[in-house]
Amino acid sequence: MTKGNDMTAPKRILILGGTAEARALADRLAGRAEDVITSLAGRTSAPSLPVGKVRTGGFGGAEGLARYLAETAVTHLVDATHPFAARISANAVIAARAANVRLLRLERPAWTPPADANWIDVPDMPAAARNIPENARVLLTIGRQELAAFHGVSDCTIFARVIEPPETVPTGWTIIAARGPFTIDQERALLETHAITHLVTKNSGSPHMAAKLEAAHAHGVAVLMIARPRLPEAETAATIEDTLSWLSA
Ligand code: NAP
Repeated sequence: MTKGNDMTAPKRILILGGTAEARALADRLAGRAEDVITSLAGRTSAPSLPVGKVRTGGFGGAEGLARYLAETAVTHLVDATHPFAARISANAVIAARAANVRLLRLERPAWTPPADANWIDVPDMPAAARNIPENARVLLTIGRQELAAFHGVSDCTIFARVIEPPETVPTGWTIIAARGPFTIDQERALLETHAITHLVTKNSGSPHMAAKLEAAHAHGVAVLMIARPRLPEAETAATIEDTLSWLSA
């Protein structure tokens, strides 16, 4: 079995992707000597693809990922998944250790509220649902997978913005199918059109998705900000530049 830390082996980089950062990293690595593969979970039917080699689908837990790292002779693993993709990030830590592969987590900083923002930090989806007051007009921008946490919210008008519509939609909800990034003007128009009073979002920290916060601030829309899940310790970089330096070291 090729050991991941063999210093004479050519670098082979596996990027755990599904984010704009992962695509940007693959873009920056294109044409360099290293062999680069991006891995996607396969959640969306028409994903935005990165340049270069792509593999799709789960590995079969931490054990499966460790096996893939060894069999593919990966030397460097970059976890550039979304900050809320906690399972794959935890698996990456275990698998990198088991396969003796260097791991870096590319993790953008979390958003912080402007001084006068109407912003409530909540620990998770159920807490966000509990904090929605009666008669609110709510825009959910949390993706498709965790909408069920809001199915029990009553006496409110709910709009859910998703890339692909969910299979189950509660009566009275409006699904807005759209793929970001969105401009500030688009976000303002959306809030205005639907007279939104509350925006629910995960604290992804993505600069590509920050326009909704700016628009909410401008329109006095309350923000229910869901905190990031805790992840196991790993070496971390906040930017693509720092990730490239780590890869070059
Ligand atoms: P998750 O809960 O952490 O992962 C669930 C399982 O999906 C993992 O155990 C793994 O299956 C598989 N998986 C996840 N990411 C993968 C990847 N990049 N390559 C191969 N397999 C992957 O993840 P999630 O929250 O469902 O997110 C899935 C993907 O969507 C991630 O790539 C993430 O970057 C992207 N995404 C997530 C969010 C979000 O809010 N969660 C938002 C935007 C984009 P096995 O155990 O079988 O290996």
